[in-house]
Amino acid sequence: MQVVSPLAAAQPLWLVLVSNFVTQAIAYFTVVSIVYVVVWRWGRERFRRARIPTTARADRAQFRREITNTFVTLLLGMLSAGSVLALYASGRTRLHNNPTSPLAIAAWIVGALLFNDLWFYCWHRLLHHPRIYRYVHAVHHRSIDVTPFSSYSFHAVEAVLLGAWIVPAAIWLPMPMAALGALQVIGLANNVMSHLGYEFVPRWVLRVPLLRWTNTATFHSLHHRDLRGNFGLHSRIWDKLFGTELPDYERVFVTRSDDATTTRDERAE
Ligand SMILES: [Zn+2]
Ligand SMILES: [Zn+2]
Repeated sequence: MQVVSPLAAAQPLWLVLVSNFVTQAIAYFTVVSIVYVVVWRWGRERFRRARIPTTARADRAQFRREITNTFVTLLLGMLSAGSVLALYASGRTRLHNNPTSPLAIAAWIVGALLFNDLWFYCWHRLLHHPRIYRYVHAVHHRSIDVTPFSSYSFHAVEAVLLGAWIVPAAIWLPMPMAALGALQVIGLANNVMSHLGYEFVPRWVLRVPLLRWTNTATFHSLHHRDLRGNFGLHSRIWDKLFGTELPDYERVFVTRSDDATTTRDERAE
């Protein structure tokens, strides 16, 4: 999701969109590169136990492909950003700048995330339909061993569909503008976390009533390993509700790469 500040509405639309694209691209590649260097390079041995088991390993060609696709995704994200900006300028959204308590802003963020999650879940399941999968969503799934650069590696059609949720949200939901900025940051963080390839969320999360239903790196990595389930973006809620959660999720989340990387000596202890 990409959002343009309505404060910039006095400038020509094309200028707002170009500067927004440049800002988005710089911010995205800075964050993802730092995460990659810290986790995948510096942490390669240090985080060995957090590595999520996978049936393939990322190579240079995958990284090149992911970076190219990401530019297309960011570019097409301007369509939804431009739509929200144009709708806001003509008074056709319910977005507002009225004073709102922090608690109300937090509630709007959670509500919008659930809406975004349901939007993603529905499109994602449709894109997995055997008749259309190979034409669009297969691009994202060429990455079996997901990397932080997989986060926005989509086919052009998917890039438009997944970013478009913000348009109905802006039209239907009377959200405070402050929530939009937070949603943008959370969306990016969640995408990178989902494609990290390493699991840093502690095992005890599964014992915490609300937290246990949030998405994890393991949850989405399993989707890339086995295309038949775990379609959610931010949570496990819709997969649980519609019976599409992969049955070994909690087991893999708890064991992580222990089985795959623990040495014989360590196992014997
Ligand atoms: Zn998928
Ligand atoms: Zn993915």
